[in-house]
Amino acid sequence: MKTPVAVHFGKDTELAIHELDLEYPRPDEVLIKTVACGVCHTDIWVQQNYTDTMVLGHEASGIVERVGSNVEALAPGDHVVTAYNWCGECEACRQGRTWECDRFDENFDGLRPDGTTPFSLKGNPVIPLMREGGFSAKMVCHKNSVIKIDPALDLRLMGPLGCGIMTGAGSVLNYLNPEARRPIAVFGTGCVGLSAIMAAHIAGCDPIIGVDRVPSRLALAAELGVTHRVNGEKANVAKAIKNICGGVDYAFDTSGSSRLLEAMRHVLNPGATACGVGIGGSLMLSERERQEGKRWTVTNTGFSFPPLFIPKLLEYYKAGQFPFEKMFRFYRFEEINKAFAASREYAAVKPIVLME
Ligand SMILES: [Zn+2]
Ligand SMILES: [Zn+2]
Repeated sequence: MKTPVAVHFGKDTELAIHELDLEYPRPDEVLIKTVACGVCHTDIWVQQNYTDTMVLGHEASGIVERVGSNVEALAPGDHVVTAYNWCGECEACRQGRTWECDRFDENFDGLRPDGTTPFSLKGNPVIPLMREGGFSAKMVCHKNSVIKIDPALDLRLMGPLGCGIMTGAGSVLNYLNPEARRPIAVFGTGCVGLSAIMAAHIAGCDPIIGVDRVPSRLALAAELGVTHRVNGEKANVAKAIKNICGGVDYAFDTSGSSRLLEAMRHVLNPGATACGVGIGGSLMLSERERQEGKRWTVTNTGFSFPPLFIPKLLEYYKAGQFPFEKMFRFYRFEEINKAFAASREYAAVKPIVLME
């Protein structure tokens, strides 16, 4: 079949909408009519660095149109969102730690295990990022990447649950698992950081300190649960945090900035747990810091098992505790390059491209 797709033709080029050929789903795959897809910083990074011809987009929401013969949990008409793919067979997957799947990196290759892809242009394969390719009117995904959600929810809002929102909220709820009334600091208040802040608010952390250099983001952070804002450009971020609460028991970094990671190091209380997305920079704790009970890890995907964690987040959303739609700004499919520019230039926290 033919489907309109925003195609990435190589490093640092604008996306261009073309009709591509799309295969019908194989036995383990699902054909989805895409409703919307969020722009993630991974899309931006790939746009700026990858030379392959690709379909970007991995925060998609849509409606199932057709399922392969091995797909039992989904049916045409189901409302779904997409998330990372996992094999289901390796030791980590069998133990429920799908974010440590032996084949996790294949998400970035975008190819099926046999090296093929469902999209092609004039007979040449086009690689869908994360084996998804959400910036297309239709997409074919592996069944493990597709999560069914409540059809009463507004599908246009749901795509980012599968990446940015899950990563931020999961880092707090699945890894830091903070005690109520204890201090937390979140460095970087984009979609991932703000999702962590909403999760810290749900967990009852106090104070919740947000650090960023963009004032509009800090203002939104205050709306979503931050009790104290710190300008990340301040000469002494660590001192500003110490003035608020002495130090923190929990910290989360999305900035990857070595300067902010150093500030984080200086505010960790003995026994503190810290984590980050690990893109750009990581924290190396000294032997002495480890003896003080301080811990740091990179929380890939927020240690989230999407089929369970996304419905859990939606329960918070329905209860009014997780108002993630406040991060969104909408763009039409034809405006996709504007949406990418808004993300790149920090003009929108989370641009969402509407496919129709
Ligand atoms: Zn992403
Ligand atoms: Zn696996």
